[in-house]
Amino acid sequence: MPSSAFSIKPIGHIITPFRQKFAIPRQPNLAQAQGEIHFTEGLDETAFKGIDGFSHLWLLFVFHETLSRGWKPLVKAPRLGGNATLGVLASRSTHRPNGIGMSVVANKGLTLHQRKPVLRVAGVDLLCDTPIIDIKPYIPYADCVPQAQDSLDKYHPIPHREVVFSALAAQQLSQASPAYPADFATLTQSILAQDPRPAYRHALEDDPKVYKVRLYDADVSWQVQRGIVQISNISRWAE
Ligand code: SAM
Repeated sequence: MPSSAFSIKPIGHIITPFRQKFAIPRQPNLAQAQGEIHFTEGLDETAFKGIDGFSHLWLLFVFHETLSRGWKPLVKAPRLGGNATLGVLASRSTHRPNGIGMSVVANKGLTLHQRKPVLRVAGVDLLCDTPIIDIKPYIPYADCVPQAQDSLDKYHPIPHREVVFSALAAQQLSQASPAYPADFATLTQSILAQDPRPAYRHALEDDPKVYKVRLYDADVSWQVQRGIVQISNISRWAE
């Protein structure tokens, strides 16, 4: 009789620019967001022997922020416009049995920090501090399926809007720039180009609502006007 319950312990956690769920890309590699995985005691560099031979890795993780809300068999699908539903097992929803997520990311290399392994990755779609439960190499001969089909592709493709900084936001960025990582401006642009508003507002080319997204330790305010994402303000959230 198979065991009916398993206990899984995280092997580490990932640090990412995403300090809240809002505006995290829906899937990996839609923005070049960097991540750093720090590991629990007991995992030394021996466990990573050979990992530099792989350009990409699968991260298996727990959707820890939404785990307590449980799951339901039908989920709303952003790719169907937000209201239509799909079976949870036909979706990549966070609200799923066991709350396990998987993302393919670029392997940016293992380093040692105070003799502990730190794995750098890029293209992440994970909230900061997400628990990592396993890592496996992406092996193209088996994992890449060129003839694979995704019938939802035709519905709501990921938007690609122009993004501009207001004069004030550009000035705030340049004044504070040593405090922000070098990729801050391009990362912000690539995330907001995907129009993280709820799907039902995507048709609004002039949206009066001002949105705020927290990236690294900055709050970025923005609005969609004439179909363009206008960044109006960037401030350090601790201020
Ligand atoms: N690529 C993964 C997969 O397919 O399993 C994740 C896809 S899921 C649709 C991506 C979304 O999960 C992100 O946009 C973010 O809103 C959410 N998310 C990321 N990390 C999370 C976490 N630790 N807890 C809860 N939600 C998270």
